[in-house]
Amino acid sequence: MARVINFNAGPAALPLAALERAQAELLDLGGTGMSVIEHSHRGKAYEAVHQQALGLVRELLAVPDSHEVLLLQGGASLQFAMVPMNFLPEGQSADYIITGSWSKKALGEAKLVGKPRVACDVGSGGKYTRIPTQAELDLSSEAAYVHITSNNTIAGSQWQRFPETSAPLIADMSSDVMWRPIDVSKFGLIYAGAQKNLGPSGLVLVIIDKALLAKEREGTPAILRYSTHAENGSLYNTPPTFSIYLLRNVLELMKEQGGLAKVEQKNRAKSALLYSIIDQDADFYRCPVEQESRSHMNVVFNLPTPELEAEFIKAAGERSIVGIKGHRSVGGVRVSIYNAAELAWVEALVSFMADFRKGK
Ligand SMILES: *Cc1c(COP(=O)(O)O)cnc(C)c1O
Repeated sequence: MARVINFNAGPAALPLAALERAQAELLDLGGTGMSVIEHSHRGKAYEAVHQQALGLVRELLAVPDSHEVLLLQGGASLQFAMVPMNFLPEGQSADYIITGSWSKKALGEAKLVGKPRVACDVGSGGKYTRIPTQAELDLSSEAAYVHITSNNTIAGSQWQRFPETSAPLIADMSSDVMWRPIDVSKFGLIYAGAQKNLGPSGLVLVIIDKALLAKEREGTPAILRYSTHAENGSLYNTPPTFSIYLLRNVLELMKEQGGLAKVEQKNRAKSALLYSIIDQDADFYRCPVEQESRSHMNVVFNLPTPELEAEFIKAAGERSIVGIKGHRSVGGVRVSIYNAAELAWVEALVSFMADFRKGK
């Protein structure tokens, strides 16, 4: 078996041990004579997996009792719509902080539901290269909530300190959820598509403050209401059982490896190594993102010309380093070093980068 060094942006690499466990248990989950995919979602065997996944999220992120943990479907993109459908009442507004294309998409959906406001757009000049300071935020005291994208998967920027807001803070954490410990109590709602840091695509983790839940708007179809899923323990309808099972495998490994403090250490070591080689040779490898705003998950950089970038990406592929082509909207190189990316992978990349530079 030849597994490659996979820096895909999403769906992204998953821990090998989580996949191997799935492989070993695929035909027979714990002596039940069937696969987890074939079990009833109302049966004991699946129920145990489901509760374990929810419990591990709560434990690893130290989610307080004030917040519900939900496992939903439809990707992060459905959350762009569900958030305003539930929490943007008619006649009220919500503040959106725009730091990249995902924030813009979230704003676009909110516009179809109500009248959101842009509290700051750091890319109004065309490029998203930084996170705003608190002083730059034009927050309204009337806002129903404030929406941010905690990590900008395409632009390669990331909030290092979250903004202070009086309205509930809602964060799209799709590309950096559980990369480190955070204070969940600061958030009204967190949502994250699983396919970057946690598991298969389609599955979404939602953590929601019960106080916000109580403010849910009326008239939203049951399937699109957070309260429906909260009241039913994320078993209102058939959940994506196999995806939740894989999430469970990933979370259990995280716990075994020492929890999120350990995950953070590993992530910081990877990003520090990669940014250091970029900065060492700043006229060859250039990171467009401002120092304090740089992402620990998606490291973006350019080479002197698009031709060199194409050659670089091709040469990396010859060393089994894949998934590093920048997003089609911005070009360049993007290395996604989510939780499952190993330090050894980044070491291999950095050594390739030094060789490639020498050859020029
Ligand atoms: C990947 C991503 C999304 C989109 O997720 P889907 O599951 O495809 O809907 C949204 N926001 C961010 C920050 C992302 O990285």
